[in-house]
Amino acid sequence: MNGKDKIDNDRSGALVTEDSSLPRCPIKGCTETSWYADAQDIEYHTSDRTYSFYKCQRCDVLFIVPMLWDRLGEIYPKTYYSYAPKKGDVVPRQRSAHRRLVKLLASIPGDRLSVLDIGGGSGWMLDQVKCCSARVSFTQCIDLDESAQAQAAAHGHAYHLGRIEEFEADRRFDLVLGLGLIEHVRDPALVLRRIEGLLADHGRALIMTPNFDALDARLFRHYSWVGYHTPRHFVLFNRQSFTELAEQSGLSVVSFSYIRAPSYWSGSVLGVMRRLGLIEISAQRPMWYHPLHPILRASFAAFEFARTPFARLSHMVFTLGRR
Ligand SMILES: [Zn+2]
Repeated sequence: MNGKDKIDNDRSGALVTEDSSLPRCPIKGCTETSWYADAQDIEYHTSDRTYSFYKCQRCDVLFIVPMLWDRLGEIYPKTYYSYAPKKGDVVPRQRSAHRRLVKLLASIPGDRLSVLDIGGGSGWMLDQVKCCSARVSFTQCIDLDESAQAQAAAHGHAYHLGRIEEFEADRRFDLVLGLGLIEHVRDPALVLRRIEGLLADHGRALIMTPNFDALDARLFRHYSWVGYHTPRHFVLFNRQSFTELAEQSGLSVVSFSYIRAPSYWSGSVLGVMRRLGLIEISAQRPMWYHPLHPILRASFAAFEFARTPFARLSHMVFTLGRR
């Protein structure tokens, strides 16, 4: 019996259950959870398995079941885009971040700034950060990718091979980047508390994460919405639920904006086309390499651009400070 058999009635958002067979929320262990959607890995096809997303009615977050936090080698394929940042059209964080970084760094006081990128791979974002301000004097990367260490070091970034949860720092950071990070971790509250502890008094954290209240998330809810990034996104937020968790973690939201993620649209559409038998996508050729992807992506970029002033878009960017 899957979650759908147990409960299929949370569209109103009002259902509260204390069924002990339901999975507990990973934020606070809440028992008031309900089935939300089933989804498969339509991007990389790391397996044929169907995963379920549940919603915590208290925390207003989605979380995946099962959460394979101890099997990262299976759920992150070799072709994973984070390992290949030159495939720029599938990494929304690359382009959107530059102007934001210049403005953000200008707002942080100090002659010498230290910057930490959590999950920063080989440090390509830190390379950009260095270009954004001459005051950046120390850069540190934390990542689980062993193969990225040498490249990060060659570019002058300190590198910690491991998880943020176990990272011991002998300094505090003026800027902490967590771009596409918090939705990948098993315990987002713990990671936010760690970020708070690593921030200098006037420091800022820049967090980017998907928004499960976006239009594409709603339309493709039952069609393996790409923002689920099944099974690699463990916990998903909306604006309010992330704000509340940040505040409970000792942080305050200094600024907020939505960001377009046209790849979520194009990928979700490609997933539906594959389901209908119209195109072929496989582990050997992930959807991001399909020739239709750039065409669809450009179309949805225009659509998203047109509705940007009015809409709750697919990505959220929070600038956080210490409370
Ligand atoms: Zn909860």
